[in-house]
Amino acid sequence: MKIKMTNEQTELDLKRCYLPIEITDNCPTCGAEVTRYLSNDYLSYPCINTPIKISMYHNIELQDRDVEHSWEVTVILRVTAEAETVGGES
Ligand SMILES: [Zn+2]
Repeated sequence: MKIKMTNEQTELDLKRCYLPIEITDNCPTCGAEVTRYLSNDYLSYPCINTPIKISMYHNIELQDRDVEHSWEVTVILRVTAEAETVGGES
């Protein structure tokens, strides 16, 4: 078998696209480390092989009121495929 991956920009036709990806970044306002779990916080119609913006946010309590800090990170999603060895390792 031969598998070739191309760099073609492809939109995934999925309104709720859950992915096994976690993105961690530091909030530019307060420095807090924030993780967005794409396995339960879905992306809508993401495009692979092209830079996409993903919004990050978290809430902090500031003088008894909730404040939301939000920013964007740019990532490129790639899809990989590999041959599976029948029967696994032996
Ligand atoms: Zn913050």
